[in-house]
Order: sequence, then structure tokens, then C-alpha cells
Amino acid sequence: MISVRCYGLLIAILVTPSFFAAQTTPQSAPPTITVSVDATDAQRKIFHAHLTIPATPGSLTLYYPKWIPGEHGPTGPIEELTGLRFTGNGQVLNWRRDLLDGWTFHVDVPQGVSLVEASLDYVSPTGRDGLYTGALSATDKITEIAWNTLILYPAGWTSDELSYETTLRLPTGWKSGTALPIASQSGPEIKFKPASLTTLVDSPVIAGEYMRVVPLAENPRQEMDIAADSAAALDVPADLFDPYKNLTDQAFKLFGARHFRDYHFLYSLSDHVAHFGLEHHESNDSRSGERYLVDPELRLLAAGLLPHEYVHSWNGKYRRPADLTTPNYEDPMKDDLLWVYEGLTSYLGDVLSARSGLRTPEQLRDSVALIAAKLDHTPGRTWRNLQDTADGVPSMQGAPPEWESWRRDLDYYDEDVLNWLWVDTIVRQQTAGKKSIDDFCHLFHGGESGLPEVKTYTFDDVMNALNQVAPYDWAGFWTVRLTNHTAGAPLGGIEGSGWKLVYDETRSELFRDEEHEGDEVNASYSIGLLLKEDGRIVDTIEGMPAAQAGIGPGMKLVAVNGRRFSGDVLRDALRAGKNGSEPLQLLIENTDYFRTFNLNYHGGEKYPHLVRDGSRPDLLTDIIRPR
Ligand SMILES: [Zn+2]
Repeated sequence: MISVRCYGLLIAILVTPSFFAAQTTPQSAPPTITVSVDATDAQRKIFHAHLTIPATPGSLTLYYPKWIPGEHGPTGPIEELTGLRFTGNGQVLNWRRDLLDGWTFHVDVPQGVSLVEASLDYVSPTGRDGLYTGALSATDKITEIAWNTLILYPAGWTSDELSYETTLRLPTGWKSGTALPIASQSGPEIKFKPASLTTLVDSPVIAGEYMRVVPLAENPRQEMDIAADSAAALDVPADLFDPYKNLTDQAFKLFGARHFRDYHFLYSLSDHVAHFGLEHHESNDSRSGERYLVDPELRLLAAGLLPHEYVHSWNGKYRRPADLTTPNYEDPMKDDLLWVYEGLTSYLGDVLSARSGLRTPEQLRDSVALIAAKLDHTPGRTWRNLQDTADGVPSMQGAPPEWESWRRDLDYYDEDVLNWLWVDTIVRQQTAGKKSIDDFCHLFHGGESGLPEVKTYTFDDVMNALNQVAPYDWAGFWTVRLTNHTAGAPLGGIEGSGWKLVYDETRSELFRDEEHEGDEVNASYSIGLLLKEDGRIVDTIEGMPAAQAGIGPGMKLVAVNGRRFSGDVLRDALRAGKNGSEPLQLLIENTDYFRTFNLNYHGGEKYPHLVRDGSRPDLLTDIIRPR
């Protein structure tokens, strides 16, 4: 999964204690549940579902999915579950929500009732607030159906054991894409083949008025199913998709096997839906802005998104931390191995983005430079180690961007790009260039190609696999990486691969694109100030000039050296003040009061880049070379 930081505030999700209530005695065979979803009101952002659930008299415990795979927390959007009603033999049944777990419902099933009928509505949020599939998922032209938002399931069975027979009705004329096998389709009504609850929840549907299907590979079939808010957003030349064809080929060469029947990149292009990527075994649900295909600047920003989600089919779905492999959606997940699940995925996704041609080598290096610079200016590292950024996800992933450098972000993504690059360079050094991360991927994620399956792992399994590729003190390496409290970013991989992190006065293409798309001005590496184009201060970096002068998040920069603030005015002032003696004067508004702060800063503008270190061999260029 990848969340996109610059798209509005995310709502904090609180962890509630899990509660396992008294359950009806499981029947001898797992039940088959039917669910029919009416999405014809998608444009109103309300979805209707009707389920039939076999039951026995007594108290029937039903769960609304709470811990959503790939979302790493109790993010099931329970507050959007509405219109809940149960009947049996035509009679309305009493129900009550569990007092300790709001995702759990107890239904009174009277004698003589063997089938409970449940109807419910899922109301999709109308704004971008919310996390992942629980955020806005329907526009006038697009919808994404995440089945976990539309179903209930009975206690007493695993999600593998429960079987669902599912139908879906779409708005007339809309097309759709999904990895969920289809039994038949008649106009807007799709009947799916029976599937386990696991497969159902893992197989979302994208649908819309404007859709483009792009075949990428055959045997097995791999395709992009792209829905957009306009026809114009899909009007790009066919060769624009060549890097994605390369991606399927390069990934197979990296892993040596595939673990899906077929694969669908479900890609939504809309300025209204929430922007993120969510992985599945045979598909991914990825969402960017409407013009992300047609606009080269935006295309560069999203270049790593689909490779990351695709890599998850191997790393996250096929190979999965045991702590994240739960039998249902009620048992809590433990996120301690996200530095493998997400961190290695981020590294491999970045490597594949370059090997496939989605990024040039220079663009890939710029991306690594941005990661390294941000982590090198994250003073929160001194109180919070990398392991805690993973452990804390269920309660912390909705944190706001203000104070991010002191709180720390979800750093097990980006920091582990640097750490796994370091691993790659150590493997190469230890084996005199004979082995690389590719050998680890073949060993750990490869095996026989075939149907989706889950092979769990622990910390020791990862260390053992690394040791099989190249004997080394991997447990010691990772223990230090995960538990240290040093202030600086881990740069051993950049340096070991023959490059250096430097700062100069020129913004890279990627740096400017990120500022532009985020409506931000990023002076983090000069005066430690990140702000919006309208002057609102998002973050100040503890220990750097802006924070030292007394400026903090939530204040507003009004004027620089007596002139109204803009990005250009601030950059001009930084440049003019370099090597001078006059302080940088910032007029700041704070809760209706105005004050001028003087920063004794004369270092000029500073933006990160990677440059070659001629004293070492250039391993990075080989790492990202197409296979
Ligand atoms: Zn991910």
C-alpha cells in the first residue's frame, strides 16, 4: 500500500479492543453466503447490498470487516455502514452492536429460521478524509467496489472457509474490470463464480463510463483496467504503456515465478477519489489524479505507484509476515515486519520502475536523493526508531503532516529503500559481484508459478534466506538498522553503490513536481521550513533555523524581507542572503498576531541530488539496468 501524503488530512483511527463474543455453534460445513450488490446509485455514493446467511436459532454473531489486508490497521469504514436490517422467514429480527467492538453485531435468530437475510447500505464518503478504501470511492463517472465495505460474515469460520456467491449491478452503460472470476454477464449485471471470502475481499472491481483496457502480457494474462473521470484523460498513445509491458517482463525476471491466475492493474484517474495504492494478490487498486496519464509531470510523480503495488503480489501477498496473516478480518494484525512487507516492496518497486523505463536512471536517483534528504532531516529519529514506525501503524497512520519530522512518518517505506539498497550492495560485495538482491528474490519469492497461495515468514526466515544468498551478520545488520536512534539517515547503500548525497541550489525535476502538485514550497534543507503556497506552515524541522527562531507548524508566513510571501520571493531571498550579513526577516501570523522573526541564515538554497563518488564502483547503475 502507498498513501499519498499531499492529498488532505487523514482522519486518525483509534484502535478498539478486539472482542470475541459468544458465538453460535458452527455448523458442520462452512456456509455459503450470497451477496447481491446494487451499485446503480454509485453516483449518489450509496451502495446497497443484500445477503443471505445460513444460521441456526440462537445468537448469530456477524462481523463487518475491521482489519483490512494491506491497510495495516482497523480501518474497516464502520461509520459508513448504514441501513442495516435483518429478517428471517419474513420477520424482522432484533440485533445489537457489541458493546466492546463496534464492528460486531449480534442477531437474535428465532426457532424455525435457518436463513438470515441482511440488507445494508455502504455510503461512500463525499470528501477525501478517511483512510484508503474507506475514503471517497465514487464520482459521477467512476466507482471502485471494495467488497469488504459491503459484506458481513459469520463468526466461527476462517475467511478461507466461507464461500460467497456474488452478483453486482452497475449503472447502465458502465464497463468494469476485476480479477474476480466472472461466471456470466448480462448487460449491467455481473454474476461471479463462487469465491472464498478471502478471494472476494482481495478482488475489488473498478467500473466507469470511460474505461480503457490495455493488454500487457499473455500466459498469464496481465492487463490494465483504467477508469477516468473523462474520455480525454485516457486519450494517450498506445506506446505510453510500453514501460508497463516491460514491468511485467522485468518482474518475472526478478522473481523467477508468478503466483496469480491473471493480473489486473485497476487504475482510477480522478481528482476527487482518495489517492493511494492498495495491493491484492491478482490485482491492485491504485488511484491518481485525472491527468496522471496525459501530463508528463504527473506521470513522473506516479512512476513508482504501480510497480510498488505489483511487487506486492510476490512480497506481501504470496510471501507474508506470519504476524500479518490472520484467519479473518476481526483478529488484530501485527505490523512489526512492515520493513520487509512495505520496505522491500518500495525498494523493488523503485528498482523495477527504472528497469522497466517508467523512470530514467537520473529520475530514479533524484527519487532516492529526495528520500535520503528527508530522512536526513528527520530529528524524530532520535526518539523513535525505525521499528516503532512499523509497530505503531494501527494507531499512528492517520497522523497529520504537521510536526511530521519530529513525530516521524511511515518511514518503514522510504527508509527501507535505503536499507534494502544497502543490503543489495553488501550482497554484491560479499559475493564479489556474483549475487544480488535478484538472487534473494528468486529464492524467497520465486518457486513454482501457479495459483495464489500464502507462505508466511518470520524475522528469522528473512535472515536465513539472506544468509543462503550471501553469508553475513544479517541479524546484526537489521537489528542496528531497526533499533538505532542516530540522527542521520542510513546512507551506507547510496555510498556503497558508488554515489553521494549532496545539496546544491538547483531543484530537480522531481523536487519541483512534488512542490507543484502538493501546492508546497519546500525550504526544508536550508532553513527547515515546509509550507503551502499560501504561506501556511506545514512543518518546521527541530534544530534548524526556522524552528530555532521560534516558528512552528500552523503559523503562516506573510512576508519575506518586507515583501509579500511567494515561493519565488522566499527563494530569491535565500539566494540573495547567501554569504551576506543581514538576517532573513520573516513576518509570521500566529493565531491573529503578527511578529517578525530574524533568521541568521546565510547558506542559500539547498536541494538534494546524488552525484558519483569516483572512488567506488558504480553499482547503482547496474542495479537499475534492465535484465
Ligand atoms: Zn505497499
